[in-house]
Amino acid sequence: MDRKFCCSTLQEVTTELPSPSFFETDDGVLMVTVGTVETEDGLGYFDQAVMFCPFCGTELQTDEIIAGKVKQNG
Ligand SMILES: [Zn+2]
Repeated sequence: MDRKFCCSTLQEVTTELPSPSFFETDDGVLMVTVGTVETEDGLGYFDQAVMFCPFCGTELQTDEIIAGKVKQNG
């Protein structure tokens, strides 16, 4: 997809660095791992959609955009 990054920092951490924190889902939603949780089934990752660039503050995604991208399960 032809996502335009708002700044080179975000582009680097998303596409160039082997960072597990920022990633893009199959639905095209930019996510960030904000923590891990230990569950009975093992280690779980707590992910959150990135609404605003943490580096320059540009709005990247809205709830409506994300809702339109994410497939509804069930
Ligand atoms: Zn940015």
